[in-house]
Amino acid sequence: MNDCVLMDGKALSAKIRESIKSEVDLIKENGEIVPGLAVVLVGNNPASEIYVRNKEKACAEVGFTSKKIVLSEDISEDELLSVINELNCDNTIHGILVQLPLPAHINKDNVIESIATEKDVDIFKTDSMGKLFEGVLTIAPCTPSGIMELLDEYQIELEGKHCVVIGRSNIVGKPIAMMLMQRNATVTICHSKTTDLEKFCKMADVIVCAVGKTNLVTDDMIKDGAVIIDVGINRNEQGKVCGDVAIQDKSKVSYMTPVPGGVGPMTITMLLKNTLELYRLYK
Ligand code: NDP
Repeated sequence: MNDCVLMDGKALSAKIRESIKSEVDLIKENGEIVPGLAVVLVGNNPASEIYVRNKEKACAEVGFTSKKIVLSEDISEDELLSVINELNCDNTIHGILVQLPLPAHINKDNVIESIATEKDVDIFKTDSMGKLFEGVLTIAPCTPSGIMELLDEYQIELEGKHCVVIGRSNIVGKPIAMMLMQRNATVTICHSKTTDLEKFCKMADVIVCAVGKTNLVTDDMIKDGAVIIDVGINRNEQGKVCGDVAIQDKSKVSYMTPVPGGVGPMTITMLLKNTLELYRLYK
């Protein structure tokens, strides 16, 4: 077997951001409104604050406008809906993202559904997800989009391949399964009630693992030459960040995403790419 190729999400992310920045530089030179992303944060969840800060930094890096709206934990649902409505009408904003989770007294679905479809940068709305599943949407949820970019960058053929997706969340598992199928792969979706995960993994040409459990996929579960996309973000016993997949003999796999440095860096970059695409379509 050849050596495993590590799929470098950091490098690809930097390359995509560079190309987004070039396009924004041209927009600026023409004196036009630049793409704008609004992030709404309710309460002061420390993890959410870090995510929001990273998104603001990424916007600044490529020259987007960013608007951070921080609202108090006890804001009413109606007040939050009116903030979203203002953003829907703001022609300097092309993508709206509501940082989850929201406080328990707010109905998350009402808030998500109130975002204008043409500004639904995360593809969280039922309408957007439906269009994605029909195959008529030009953008896709950020993490699955990042996975597809990585597969394309490394020229991994998907047509006719058997892809096993582990995890069925609305933000990763379900959309990536659909996107792989749209590329003519044969897709199996596994989840916590799958009785023999190993059996399915052993049949996979490509495994996308998005669960959040260390050591879920190990050497004995994969076939030689498999491609492994590890979406999971966990901490191991030593406190180090690691994925869901723990392959000791790397020569068994052909391509693999490292954690950290694989899928993770792609996610915010895809948020920027989606914002730019919504700007192109609806500005
Ligand atoms: P969810 O918790 O929403 O979904 C996890 C999925 O894993 C569920 O479908 C669940 O099954 C399934 N699952 C749980 N245990 C098992 C098991 N033993 N065997 C097979 N399947 C199992 O998580 P997310 O999709 O939001 O995230 C998954 C992981 O990816 C997390 O570690 C998260 O931190 C990471 N992540 C990383 C991102 C990045 O940018 N790199 C972005 C988003 C997420 P069931 O449906 O039956 O409960």
